[in-house]
Amino acid sequence: MKIKVLSDSVINQIAAGEVVDRPSGVVRELVDNAIDAGATDIFVTLQGGGNSRLKVRDNGYGMAKDDAILAFERHATSKVSAIDDLTGIVTMGFRGEALASIAAVSKVQLRTKEQNSDIGTHVVFRGGRLVNVEPVPWSQGTEIEVEHLFFNTPARRKFLKSPKSELARTRTWLAHSSLSHPEVRYRLVSDGDEILHLRPVSSMVERAKDVFSSELLSCDLTEGGVRVQAMVSHPGEALSDASGLVILVNGRLVTDRVILRAVREGYDSMLKDREFPTGYVALEVSGEFVDVNVHPQKSEVRFRHPNQIFAVVRGAILSGVRGLQRPVQVGRPSIAPLMTESIPTAKQEPSSSRVGTEIFSEVSQSRTISTSPAPLFSSESYVRTHVDTYEAFSPKDTDLAAASSDDFAARPSFRFSDLRYVGQILGCYLLCEWQDSFVIVDMHAAHERVNYTHIRDAYSRKELTPQPLLIPQRVTLSYEQVNNLTEQIELIRALGFDVTEVDPQQIEIRAVPSVLSHVNCSAVIRDLAAEPVVAGWQERVEERIDHIAARVACHASVRSGDAINRQEAYALFDQLDSVFMSGACPHGRPVVAQFSRDAVEKWFGRDR
Ligand code: ADP
Ligand code: MG
Repeated sequence: MKIKVLSDSVINQIAAGEVVDRPSGVVRELVDNAIDAGATDIFVTLQGGGNSRLKVRDNGYGMAKDDAILAFERHATSKVSAIDDLTGIVTMGFRGEALASIAAVSKVQLRTKEQNSDIGTHVVFRGGRLVNVEPVPWSQGTEIEVEHLFFNTPARRKFLKSPKSELARTRTWLAHSSLSHPEVRYRLVSDGDEILHLRPVSSMVERAKDVFSSELLSCDLTEGGVRVQAMVSHPGEALSDASGLVILVNGRLVTDRVILRAVREGYDSMLKDREFPTGYVALEVSGEFVDVNVHPQKSEVRFRHPNQIFAVVRGAILSGVRGLQRPVQVGRPSIAPLMTESIPTAKQEPSSSRVGTEIFSEVSQSRTISTSPAPLFSSESYVRTHVDTYEAFSPKDTDLAAASSDDFAARPSFRFSDLRYVGQILGCYLLCEWQDSFVIVDMHAAHERVNYTHIRDAYSRKELTPQPLLIPQRVTLSYEQVNNLTEQIELIRALGFDVTEVDPQQIEIRAVPSVLSHVNCSAVIRDLAAEPVVAGWQERVEERIDHIAARVACHASVRSGDAINRQEAYALFDQLDSVFMSGACPHGRPVVAQFSRDAVEKWFGRDR
């Protein structure tokens, strides 16, 4: 065996695999560079999903001729010069290896002009080698065009997916990362079709409306130097993976398990295992407390105090989710359009805004398609998260300014007690009118939410005192079921049930919490005995208490088929207004659904 030092071109090819592994990775690096160059207009063009060709053009400050060549050197960067610069870094890039890596595995053409220069520069690299430099007339900014990606690394080329899925990745990444730069216009054109056009807006909240179609809950909390701003979906609209939840740390799009876990916990047991909301969580943390240089693609960070980050994120989400009261909109797409494979329908921009500010005009206007689907519901269907009925909900807990900013404030708040009750349908649903819409309340889910809150509150105030039964009840169970119960017997007792094992297959209920004296307690106990206790619950006692409380609440609630009169319906609405999170049951299912007049008129063809 003989040891050889690898040539620069081989080093670059190897390193390229870490930095960019597919077209979306190339777009990511080039768009990050455009942002770092102060661009306010970024235009991405793909051919064959980027597998054949891709191009990123910006209106940033550009480069002079020497820099345009130097930029392709490995570890050439204008963004840091000493290791200390990494603390508090504000640029997206800092490793100085993106352009070198991309050039090593493709043919790259760079056209650029510095602002106060008369002429631009055109540079061509192929397989990492400079093949041409010449002056070129150029208006402003930089354009980088990448062809034949991975032409000299066939193993990598084989891993490219179909143009359709490469396009979907780029589109999703672009839309997600656009959240931290709302002032920037982003366009994505694929094979001549404009499939994404995010217009400049004034805030992240505004940008989120174009990226996510469902209405989101606003969450905001600053504590100990960590600021969290988030917009997240109704738990009933959760996805089975985290692909719809965008995490931004100091403007950088990352994946982070601590934050994911904190978000899920912030939903207070309303998300099932492996369910994740859609939306975004944006953190601002001082540079000394976060290390951004832990991943070649800069897609992960490391926090100095992950526990603190966890607590603030969880607190922020909880504060937002507590105000969850509004109905889910029926007929409105609940999943972000960017998460679906289909390309949404057109929403035309007024033609006047097309002129003037734009720098590129490669797209045939007639084929313009925007990311935002035409709203199915009129603007008033955006209901601001209602919080002001809760006294305990002080503005200190959460920054209401975010929720009430701009047009969210103009939209009417939803209150159950404002509903006009019409009648009970299908045994379980309360049909009501509200403003220019009708709503349906799931009476079981509603009652469950109310009971759950009362049980939880009584538990934390230690008011779940056991009330002895006149005649103790015996319940016969299997060995295994008795075991399931005895394993969590302390918790069940803490909730006010006096339950004792009398023999290996029988338990006796001697007392039930006084607030639940009307409940069929043997059914509750059978229910708790039926499911095996999850391993490791001892570390998460509160979560387990929540779970048991939810089961108890379910049994204490009106059931489908129970008749409920007008007075009881209104009493339920009043109770719903007095508890947190009344928009969802303890398991995260919606309590109330809204159908706008527009939607109804559409059914009957009256919109034509
Ligand atoms: P990094 O972004 O980590 O510095 P890159 O390889 O991505 O490394 O880019 C190298 C350098 O090229 C950057 O530091 C920047 O000075 C310059 N550069 C790259 N893209 C652009 C652009 N679109 N506009 C202006 N300068 C750019
Ligand atoms: Mg870069």
